[in-house]
Amino acid sequence: MSLIENIIRPDVRERDAYHVPDSAGYLKLDAMENPYRLPEKLQKQLGEHLSHVALNRYPVPLYKELKTKIREKLGVPPGYDVLVGNGSDELIAIVSTACARQDRRARVLAPVPTFVMYALSAQFAGMEFIGVPLKPDFSLDMDAMLEAIRTHRPSILYLAYPNNPTGNLFDEKDMLALVDAMSDIGIVISDEAYQPFAQTSMMPYLPQHPNLVVMRTVSKLGLAGVRLGYMSASQELLTEFDKVRPPYNVNVLTEAAVAFALDHIEVFDKQAASLRAERDILSAALSALSGMEVLPSSANFILVRLENADAVFEKLLARKVLIKNVGKMHVLLDNCLRITIGTPEENKQFLALFSACLR
Ligand code: PMP
Repeated sequence: MSLIENIIRPDVRERDAYHVPDSAGYLKLDAMENPYRLPEKLQKQLGEHLSHVALNRYPVPLYKELKTKIREKLGVPPGYDVLVGNGSDELIAIVSTACARQDRRARVLAPVPTFVMYALSAQFAGMEFIGVPLKPDFSLDMDAMLEAIRTHRPSILYLAYPNNPTGNLFDEKDMLALVDAMSDIGIVISDEAYQPFAQTSMMPYLPQHPNLVVMRTVSKLGLAGVRLGYMSASQELLTEFDKVRPPYNVNVLTEAAVAFALDHIEVFDKQAASLRAERDILSAALSALSGMEVLPSSANFILVRLENADAVFEKLLARKVLIKNVGKMHVLLDNCLRITIGTPEENKQFLALFSACLR
C-alpha cells in the first residue's frame, strides 16, 4: 500500500481539488466579485492605515474592535455578537466541525441546486448531505423540505438567501416555517452572501429564533480578496462554534482592512446600488434576445437558460469572456449559464460578444 493510500481517506483521494479557472486576460464575469476597486484616495489612505499594523504580533484572538464595527455597521441586532472567519467558507467548515459527531452520522440538509460548499464541507467533516430539489421555478418545495426534516432530522439546514446559482430569494414565510420546523432538531443557517444586492435579511428574526444563524461575507460587497466572513446567532451557539475556530483565523491585515472599509461603508453601498441598477439593465437587455430565459435575480449575477448553452459558453471562452457554465451542476440547471454583473462598460462588452455567440 502506498503512503497516500495508507493515510489519505478514499473519498478525498477520489476527489479533484476545487477548480478555479485561470482568468488572466479574460473579461471576468464568473465569480460574483464586485468589479469596482476602492477610489484612489481611499487606496492611499488604506495603504497608510495598513502600514501601522503590527505584523510581528499575532492577531488579538477576540477581534473585539472588528466585531464591534461589524455589529454597528452591518445591521446585527442589539445584544447579538458575531463570529469571524477567513471568508464564510471557513465559517461553514467551523459549523461542520462543531456539528459532526462520533456517535452517529449527523446530517446536513439544503435545497438543491445551491452553493456547493455546504455539501463539500459536510462530506469533509464526515456528515451526510441531503439535497432536496427546488421546484422548477427555484422556489422551495415546502412539502419535500418538511418531509426531509421529519425523516432525516438534520443538524444543519442551509438556506442561501438569495440562492447561488439561481439568484432568487426564497419566500420569507417559507424560511420561517422551516426555522420553526427545525426548532427542536437543528440550526437553520441563512447564508446572506448576496445581501448587499437583495437588501433583505433574516437578521431581525434572530431574537425570536434561538436555532437561527445568519451568515454573511464582505466578499461580494467588494472585498473578496481580504477574506472575511461573519455570522451571528445566540451567544450559546457562538460560544460552541468559537471552540473549534482556529485561534488566529483572521489575520491582522484583513482585520485592519475591513475595519477601514467599514468606516467608509457608504462607498460600498453606492457600488452595490449601481450594481443593482446594472443588473436590471442587463436583465432587460438579455430578455430581449430571442430564445433566452432570464431568471429573476436578487443577487449580483443573472442566471439565463438558452439552447446550446455549452456551445455558447465555449464560444465566449474563445473570445476571452469567462462566465460560469452551471448546466452540469443539477438537472434543474440544464442549459443554464451564470453571469456576474460587471461595470457598465463590461456589461455592454459582454452583451455584444454574447449576442454574437448566439448567432
Ligand atoms: N455563500 C454563498 C451562497 C456563496 O455563493 C459564496 C461564494 N460564492 C460563499 C458563501 C463564500 O463566500 P466567501 O468568499 O466569504 O468565502
